[in-house]
Amino acid sequence: MRGGTQVVMGNYNQKNAISISISQQNNHIVARISDYTNNCSFTDEAGPYVLTFDYDSQEMRTFVDGALTDSHETNESISWGKTAIGRSGTSSSSSSSRYPWEGKISEIRIYDRKLSDDERKAVEEELQEKWFGASNNPGEPGRAYVYYNPYEDVDWETYEQYKANFHTHTNQSDGSFSPQVAIDRYYNAGYKILALTDHDGYGYDPDTTWPWTKWNRDPDDFGMLAIQGNELSNTDHICSLFNDYGGPRSGQEELALQEVNERNGLAFMNHPGRYTRPVDWYANLYKKYYKEPLIGMEVHNQGDRYPNDRQTWDRVNALVMPEVIVFGYSNDDMHNQNNLFKSYQFMLMKELTVEDLREAMLKGAFYFCYEPGGSGSEDPPVPRISSIEVTDNGTDIKITATTANSITWKTDKGIIANGDFIDLDDINIDGAKFVRAELTNEKGTTYTQPFVLMYSLN
Ligand SMILES: [Zn+2]
Ligand SMILES: [Zn+2]
Repeated sequence: MRGGTQVVMGNYNQKNAISISISQQNNHIVARISDYTNNCSFTDEAGPYVLTFDYDSQEMRTFVDGALTDSHETNESISWGKTAIGRSGTSSSSSSSRYPWEGKISEIRIYDRKLSDDERKAVEEELQEKWFGASNNPGEPGRAYVYYNPYEDVDWETYEQYKANFHTHTNQSDGSFSPQVAIDRYYNAGYKILALTDHDGYGYDPDTTWPWTKWNRDPDDFGMLAIQGNELSNTDHICSLFNDYGGPRSGQEELALQEVNERNGLAFMNHPGRYTRPVDWYANLYKKYYKEPLIGMEVHNQGDRYPNDRQTWDRVNALVMPEVIVFGYSNDDMHNQNNLFKSYQFMLMKELTVEDLREAMLKGAFYFCYEPGGSGSEDPPVPRISSIEVTDNGTDIKITATTANSITWKTDKGIIANGDFIDLDDINIDGAKFVRAELTNEKGTTYTQPFVLMYSLN
């Protein structure tokens, strides 16, 4: 890139350090936001920030809220990719599931010439006012738009929809089927992803029901993705996935989550309706362990054993968004024949691999279903989603679905609209934190993940 370029970001973050990495090796400026120690960290105070980068072939200067914080000699190219910034990017290292930064970038401007200092200052002031001015304060929302769309990276044309159950018991704890029978039943019902999650408590063996080959079932022969897991049951029940943890011996949820995280696992809280925890308790837990390892909440369990679980889910999200997003799950919690095939999700993935599954779970790229009849069909009769598009600068959301009789849009404040399309410009959403959709027909209900909302002046 010749002639000097300036990048301006309006930036908002409450949690992590922000840094700009300058790769001397590749002669690249990587405008990555991360807390890697090898990057040049210029502040670790809570935001909001307006960041500007100003460089020519000789020098790179970094400003935070108008003040020069860093200056480097540099070379002429800039590496700027989707993967380098923010939550919707992929992780910077393929072996890590963690995103380098969990804040929000409100706006990025790239100029094809080097701005003068006066011009830069004017842009900084404009961004400061636009994103952090009085009209953008909580309680005085401006125009609503989708700030996080869980389906943003889904290519609906080419991605597969893999039916999944993440909560399954066998006779290795209190389930009635042997592991091989459980696997066979789900295989025959068109499931492509299955986690056998036996209890580690109540005196059961804390070992995971793993690997499937121990029970003479090779997932490759079935074209299935087998996920190692456990239902940690000496605590509030936690679905622990992608690791071999056998749980703490007493009710220490935080210890359990730390252990799962150390094993590079992911986890969600099961059936909150079984307990009497206040929503604050969940909010604190999700904030503290977000993506490390907590990613969601089971809000349909064994059909619909705890109908208030969706309300708990919404209330927790209202407390933790936009920094944290709790994705919803629907699982059979299968113990016997009666629990089969009523609660599942469709994971939106390029390929049936653990890597793609983890990515879908971290991004929320899936939708979940409740089918009281439990048909066990590969193509079940609940509403199916064939695409979700967010357009017009995040104000329009359109769902294309089959066999849906109705689509209802809900925020944390209540129902706001019906139909397959909403334009947030036309609806008073009262400062809501998110909007999500429920699709129904006579066979069941299908739920999207929440779309996180933000407010701006224009
Ligand atoms: Zn349980
Ligand atoms: Zn269970």
